[in-house]
Amino acid sequence: MRTCFGAGPSKQNQKCLDDLVKMILDDPSILEMSHRSEEFLKRITKTKTILKELLDVPNDMDILFLSGGASYQFLMCAVNLLHHKAGYLITGLFSKIAYETAQKLGNCEILYDNTNHPYDLSDFPNEIKKDYDYVYVCLNNSIYGTRTPDFICDCPVVADASSILGIEPIDFKKYSLVFASAQKNFGMSGMSLVFVKRNLKFKENIVPLMSYPKQIDANSMLNTPPILSIVMCGLCAEELLKKKQTLYEENKAKAELLYSFLDQSDCFEVLAPMHRSMMNVCFKIKNALDESHLLEQLNHAGFDGIKGHRLAGYLRASLNVFVSLDEVNRLIEFLEKIEKTGF
Ligand code: PMP
Repeated sequence: MRTCFGAGPSKQNQKCLDDLVKMILDDPSILEMSHRSEEFLKRITKTKTILKELLDVPNDMDILFLSGGASYQFLMCAVNLLHHKAGYLITGLFSKIAYETAQKLGNCEILYDNTNHPYDLSDFPNEIKKDYDYVYVCLNNSIYGTRTPDFICDCPVVADASSILGIEPIDFKKYSLVFASAQKNFGMSGMSLVFVKRNLKFKENIVPLMSYPKQIDANSMLNTPPILSIVMCGLCAEELLKKKQTLYEENKAKAELLYSFLDQSDCFEVLAPMHRSMMNVCFKIKNALDESHLLEQLNHAGFDGIKGHRLAGYLRASLNVFVSLDEVNRLIEFLEKIEKTGF
């Protein structure tokens, strides 16, 4: 049995996969079903209810399922919320792309930028006081394996929660808009889960398909929604809800186990000294020459997706919510063996 430690698309839950396949093969197939059918409408409502309970989403936030992945939200948040000026905290590649996207539409100020030292967030600001339409932050930097620290802010905060949604508790009260790409912990790529406060100062006269309030009114169905991704998201959320009480503790235990092995190792080194991600564990071989050979051996042993991001290099084990503690233990045992016997 192989284990995928990819950052996303990533490890799936077997029961969710089986249920999805069953629905595809059913007569009628879920692929033949209208998004306006009673059955699908029930399913989308149930998925929202489960997500609210699972993630403790407050009642003043609506949940949307929008196609285009998290990258599309880089654009959509600016289209909806950028009136005069937005502030951007650049903590990795994705927040940089979000800034570059938004600044094509209006005035954006860089409030922080660690491009020159991407594994280090020690100089991240504690507080942002100026008046912005919104301040943009990426909570987990999947490429570098860092967790952006919390900060105090008077203005609305837009947060990219891709990777950590379902991994760590998110205090939604701190944010006006939260989005996450589904392929990390909630199933399939090409869709974002979007949590949006109803009382925001939205721009008017924008393309309806891009308007949060119009999508809220239309139940995410201004056009045909990504039906299969929504169904899979619902199945994943239902499965996670069964272990809500222990979910975050388990995720933390997996990350702590892997970090503590790597920290005491003579052979490996974690790249982020502090502010470490609970989802993406980025590390390198102290003697970096043997990386591709190690990746080959990992692959032979059934561990997939450990090659680092194509732009950052090194190694990255992503601890998706459906990767078990046992699978993390097996990875550690394998790395220990490699350490002893050599590459
Ligand atoms: N933000 C973060 C933190 C990510 O990790 C990713 C994808 N890896 C994205 C945004 C972009 O997501 P998508 O590919 O779904 O557009």
